[in-house]
Amino acid sequence: MSTLDFGSLRVDVIPCGEFRLDGGAMFGQVPRPRWETFARPDDRHRIVMGTNALLVRGAQFVLLIESGCGARWTADERAFFGIQDPDALVRGLAACGVRPEDVTHVTASHLHFDHSGGLFTGEAPDAPTAESDVRFANAVHLLQGIEWRAAMRPPELQKASYRGPFERIAARGRLREVRGDEAVLPGVKLRFTGGHTDGHQVIELDGGTDRGVFFGDLLPTAWHLPPAYTMAYDLHPQQVITKKREMLEECAARAAACFFYHDPDPRPARVRRDGKRYVAERFGGDAADAFGG
Ligand SMILES: [Zn+2]
Repeated sequence: MSTLDFGSLRVDVIPCGEFRLDGGAMFGQVPRPRWETFARPDDRHRIVMGTNALLVRGAQFVLLIESGCGARWTADERAFFGIQDPDALVRGLAACGVRPEDVTHVTASHLHFDHSGGLFTGEAPDAPTAESDVRFANAVHLLQGIEWRAAMRPPELQKASYRGPFERIAARGRLREVRGDEAVLPGVKLRFTGGHTDGHQVIELDGGTDRGVFFGDLLPTAWHLPPAYTMAYDLHPQQVITKKREMLEECAARAAACFFYHDPDPRPARVRRDGKRYVAERFGGDAADAFGG
């Protein structure tokens, strides 16, 4: 687990367990002979993905960004998606001295199952049939209104991606809809991007001494640094390309820490421009860890 001191913010990466998705779908129009050189598929054509949530603590708040796939899966589904260690979120928080009831705010780049599953209770193996409720009962859920409505009524292309008792968040009075860009907490700004979903956002952190950007699925792994490396899951790939380039330029100019939620390597990286390419250098890494597309 990496801990970063951003000045007024303390940031911990909390890996919530690996899962697997189809390699071809993860790389959209990129041909397999290209992506399989760095992302080796298994015998079912799947590649290993991380779910690297962020715990951000300020003087007055405890914010969780993303929550992994959660535990509400049947044995068959767990095998299909290769979901590992569904209890890693709660364990990771505990390792930071945080109980679910201590979390004051949660947010998510968007509400697909691999980003929002951990927001709900229900532990394996009974989870799929157990009564489920919000896990972070004291937390304000800061969600883009557009994304919230998509979760309630998913677009046809992404029907399988939204699953969870989202209505419980509103029923508990824990939903706060955000519209567009908003500074929601000291040093924390939500920034609307669209692209991957209609309501996708990234999260910007600024603790005074250091900055960071949590990319969500705008840039899921360092492998996706080339702007044109989009996913088959993206609702609007061209918007992903435009926004990704814009955010990468800003990150390079400000030397911001970049957090890649689905990267099998949970360490954040700094991004710099090398000619036309973007190169990521891992925190705590050496030159061999640089990866550019
Ligand atoms: Zn995702």
